[in-house]
Amino acid sequence: MTCNSKWPEILRELLPSRTAPDRPDLVARVFCAKLEDMKDHIFKKHILCKFGAYVYVIEFQKRGLPHAHFLLIMTPEHKMTNLDHYDKNVCAEIPDPNRYPQMHELVVQHMMHGPCGHLRPSSPCMQSKPKKCRFRYPKQFNDKTMQAEDSYSLYQQRNSGINMNVRGNILDNRWVVLYNSKLLMMFNYHINVEACSSITSVKYVFKYVYKGHDKQVVQIDSEEERVVINEIRRFQDACYVSPPEAIWRIFSFILSQMHPYMMVLQLHLPNKQMSMGKSLNDLDLPMVDANANFQSGEFCEVQEECSIVVEDEHLRPLDSLNSNQKYAYDEIMRHIDEDCPGVFFIDGPRGTVNIFL
Ligand SMILES: [Zn+2]
Repeated sequence: MTCNSKWPEILRELLPSRTAPDRPDLVARVFCAKLEDMKDHIFKKHILCKFGAYVYVIEFQKRGLPHAHFLLIMTPEHKMTNLDHYDKNVCAEIPDPNRYPQMHELVVQHMMHGPCGHLRPSSPCMQSKPKKCRFRYPKQFNDKTMQAEDSYSLYQQRNSGINMNVRGNILDNRWVVLYNSKLLMMFNYHINVEACSSITSVKYVFKYVYKGHDKQVVQIDSEEERVVINEIRRFQDACYVSPPEAIWRIFSFILSQMHPYMMVLQLHLPNKQMSMGKSLNDLDLPMVDANANFQSGEFCEVQEECSIVVEDEHLRPLDSLNSNQKYAYDEIMRHIDEDCPGVFFIDGPRGTVNIFL
């Protein structure tokens, strides 16, 4: 979901001759309101279907406009089990301008890729040698949707004869970015919707959702010929915060959310904690004496750890564990509480990088 700088809610608040980038506060507020509205329609009013879990993050383009990446996981009874379900949720064609004029206009305005390829070789999506579109446009015509093995599905993109002048070139169905017609009609923005049913594509999307901020190593030298390469400085992170992102953070708008809430349990084998290849016993650490005077400063770190107040918010996720997760959690905690050593192996589905309980 990408912010549309031409949303009426933004345009009508701008003074004459001003544009959306002049009002990052307005852009951030309107996008946040639209996002909350969309969440309400998806998660409470179930306009698509019922979702059992979701995760989303907000990102900001270099030019500043915010966008959101969502990963939605359907409840078992709503899983997309046949190709009709795919076609109901994901569209990849230009609607007939006579039968669906408004929808046609929205797709042409927001959901057409390019042009790129031989029509415009200088397009930013043209990469590698020989140059080709990194998003693989134009796609091939497809008479019907096909579910591919361990990758994204191929959607119905028929050679319907409908084509449109988009940014100076005549484009057809092969240039349509996948969308959901309900969401596009309701929110008037660029929203790419895809179904990912195989574990490989789920892993890819999850990684994309958490890929983090774009960062670049930047070094500016006054006299180029005297540059001495400082390898430490090379690793300095330079983070560009755009005005809408700054406003987003100042207003404390949500940057990411996950439901149900999950927590990572760090598990270690006995005496195999991460300590530069040594076990804790090799480090000659002072023994913690239960009767020690913590005020002396000798055990200030221990004291600090002991004085941490665990907030309710961090205890609440415990209630959302399912019965198997709860069993694993209780079993591990029982060993800790009873000071009874144990080794636990927790298996995760193939392809998951982190293990969550
Ligand atoms: Zn392209």
